[in-house]
Amino acid sequence: MNIHDLTAHELSRLLSNRELSAVELVDAVLRRVDEVDPSVRAYVTVTREQALATAKQVDAARARGEAVAPLAGIPFALKDNICTRGVRTTCSSRMLENFVPPYSATVAARLAETGAVLVGKTNLDEFAMGSSTETSAFFTTHNPWDLERVPGGSSGGSAAAVAAGEAVFALGSDTGGSIRQPAALCSVVGLKPTYGRISRFGVVAFASSLDQIGPLTKDVTDSALVLNAIAGWDKMDSTSAPQEAPDYTKFLGQEIKGLKLGVPKEYLVEGVDPAVKEAFLEALKVLENLGAVVEEVSLPHTDCALPVYYILAPGEASSNLARFDGVRYGLRVDAADLVPMYEETRTKGFGVEVRRRIIVGTCALSSGFYDAYYRKAQQVRTLIKRDFDNAFQKYDVLVTPTSPTTAFKIGERLENPVQMYLSDVYTIPANLAGIPGMSIQAGFSQGLPIGLQLLGRAFDEGTLFKVAYAYEQSTGHSKKRPPLAVVSGGEPRA
Ligand code: GLN
Repeated sequence: MNIHDLTAHELSRLLSNRELSAVELVDAVLRRVDEVDPSVRAYVTVTREQALATAKQVDAARARGEAVAPLAGIPFALKDNICTRGVRTTCSSRMLENFVPPYSATVAARLAETGAVLVGKTNLDEFAMGSSTETSAFFTTHNPWDLERVPGGSSGGSAAAVAAGEAVFALGSDTGGSIRQPAALCSVVGLKPTYGRISRFGVVAFASSLDQIGPLTKDVTDSALVLNAIAGWDKMDSTSAPQEAPDYTKFLGQEIKGLKLGVPKEYLVEGVDPAVKEAFLEALKVLENLGAVVEEVSLPHTDCALPVYYILAPGEASSNLARFDGVRYGLRVDAADLVPMYEETRTKGFGVEVRRRIIVGTCALSSGFYDAYYRKAQQVRTLIKRDFDNAFQKYDVLVTPTSPTTAFKIGERLENPVQMYLSDVYTIPANLAGIPGMSIQAGFSQGLPIGLQLLGRAFDEGTLFKVAYAYEQSTGHSKKRPPLAVVSGGEPRA
């Protein structure tokens, strides 16, 4: 296997045995970026010099005999809506094209403290609004398994980078599925932890009551390692939870015999690709063979989740994005007077999808509409959460497909927003309920990856790791890598 194919825990062993230096590792990953990123286009910015300098420091610390963390020297990427001090953070928007944050997000700072090496910032749907990475104002990221298809979104750059070996792991953000859906479409592990488990300080807000950060990794063990590094209370985020985060690696290898898994019957009714359904039923058999008890469960308000999300998320987005006004920071398009300046700035700075959401959200929050839309949606959100509360009285984990289809062709859903929104029917309910959800590799259909979603009780990521690891160990899906052609003589990326 090539260095860029290895997982963080495998590389960590090589580093601590001195079979590989951090500089060699970072160099190998940067070379991989040069070779495949001209076709994958996962990165908005590559932090080459900074990465090599950090790697040198890690090697020096190790040479001095200092204790280093498991992720020290491991190259990673951050979705470009996560602020990094001194490194451009664009949200893949013209509005922030030249924005260099004066501070780092807590997650970025925590990873830096462990000695993990930032190699770059990845492409996303503009302001994380989308399911395909096609709404990026800069370019579309391509799926490493089939370059004519989307990687999913909105964390498509992060998922594609990890799948293509352009980063060992990455962070994404998930408001309605943006970690789990691209993870499924690119054959990586994607975890959206419980709301509040990870600090959101320094992550550009989309819908604050739904947003959560999480890891995209090559396997389940890496997911636990990264969560260990970033989870926990933060005084800078009042919504971060005070509960102590356990060592998530402790759950790997624990038995799942007797665990009760519920399969929500509302998830498999219409619109699901037969190949996805087949892989899903196959996965249930694997879990049963491992001793888990699999039964059908009902989440009666499932069909309300998508409409509720598309009131609440745009509502919160319209409020969060009000700060991009041409005055405080970001793009400014000068005009004769104040109001035309706002108008020009916001029409030139935001793309079509972002403007659509701002208009829908502003409408839903307006007096006269608020009660009929926003308040009503909040009430239905409570019903959706109660469905989960009831199901978790009896079941430890709920199991569903992650996405109703495999990766679709670039351009296929762009003209039809509702069809695009349907990409997230299985992932959105977890954000509304605030519970953790994980997507793991569940095989392929015609060379395209399929994901399996595990949903758990709030703050019980541990049980998800238990089930995910047991499943992963009895299948070989997480070991497959995409057959990507290398662009010979690929120009180093700036
Ligand atoms: N695809 C969903 C949307 O467009 C979810 C995005 C996300 O999770 N950031 O809103």
